[in-house]
Amino acid sequence: MSTAQKPEWVPENAGREFTTNVMPAITKPSNNAPTIVKRKSLSIDEYEKGILAGDVTILSRAITLIESNSPKHNDQAQELIKNLLPYTGKSTRIGITGSPGAGKSTLIENLGMKLCKNNLKTAVLAIDPSSTITKGSILGDKTRMEELSQQSLAFIRPSPSSGTLGGVATKTRETMLLCEAAGYEVIIIETVGVGQSEITVRSMVDFFMLLLLPGAGDELQGIKKGVVELADLLVVNKRVNDKSTAAEITRAQYQNALHLLSPATEGWATPAMMCSALDGVGVWDLWTCINDFRENTISSGIFEDRRKKQTLEWVYNMIDDGMRRLFYDNSTIQSNIAIQEKKVFEGEVTPSKAAADLIKLFMEQIKQN
Ligand code: GDP
Repeated sequence: MSTAQKPEWVPENAGREFTTNVMPAITKPSNNAPTIVKRKSLSIDEYEKGILAGDVTILSRAITLIESNSPKHNDQAQELIKNLLPYTGKSTRIGITGSPGAGKSTLIENLGMKLCKNNLKTAVLAIDPSSTITKGSILGDKTRMEELSQQSLAFIRPSPSSGTLGGVATKTRETMLLCEAAGYEVIIIETVGVGQSEITVRSMVDFFMLLLLPGAGDELQGIKKGVVELADLLVVNKRVNDKSTAAEITRAQYQNALHLLSPATEGWATPAMMCSALDGVGVWDLWTCINDFRENTISSGIFEDRRKKQTLEWVYNMIDDGMRRLFYDNSTIQSNIAIQEKKVFEGEVTPSKAAADLIKLFMEQIKQN
């Protein structure tokens, strides 16, 4: 028997489709254990009103609804998102990537605290590709952003814990929209450079930042070629003193390299800056840079243009995901894939013929239903 319990925001009657569970060890001691009061399910209208009023508990429950894999919850979530769409789009969407240890969470905590002090409601979301690839987590396991998580103006939500990167990305996008409807003005999406995750995050944010360590070249930092080209800002973190340090040398090297690359955003020359996330030196300059970028791209029309393209890209990604799922979930396809694989291995059919036969079989199935 499982000892895991549902947390309070999971709707009553919900089954195993909710991935989030709380182990009894971190609930209250059993002596005076409160009877677990099951929350009543909320109507779409209640979700909508709660989110628009900035109610964090309702926002969290709505995100849990989005993260559910049940078709029923999916329908509710889509209805909710549709109703909230007119209230979305007003935030500054920022992506941050960098290898593990570059200082992403330290920077987000420091920047987030400064934003909250300036009365800017800030939401932090994560895309953790490691959980989809290795079933482990690079981003989620450590205690992160403790100080920021105490702020009433901040909202931190870890990466959805299951599914393909495409599925996780969709959920994060939808979560971002809910956060915007709840009044968050800055949304930070964090990821590590594994798989396709940087491209995924780039496709959903206005501004994309790459965090670097001083003194190490791309290869040593595990940065893939091409990621520098996605960035609107490079930041060398952990500088010690102002000049002539490893950080300044690294910064200058990247600044030079940037001259040879085409910019990630038309009309914007990607700068290379430095900061020390731990003590906050230079962190507010990054925010100034983000604001310059926003002004610049809004006045040139690039900002709006990118958002429109991103929405279309999202539609096509959803079609890709949906088609793939329909195909691979089809029971006839499932039972025929092994047969075709064997034929390919034994040289009986070419890979193209095997794929064409499976697709033909799938089309026949669709016609029959
Ligand atoms: P992440 O894996 O990219 O999220 O990196 P973390 O934010 O967890 O930082 C990794 C380690 O580097 C932690 O021990 C931080 O305290 C440390 N660190 C982060 N930023 C700085 C900095 O500006 N200066 C110094 N000296 N250490 C830092």
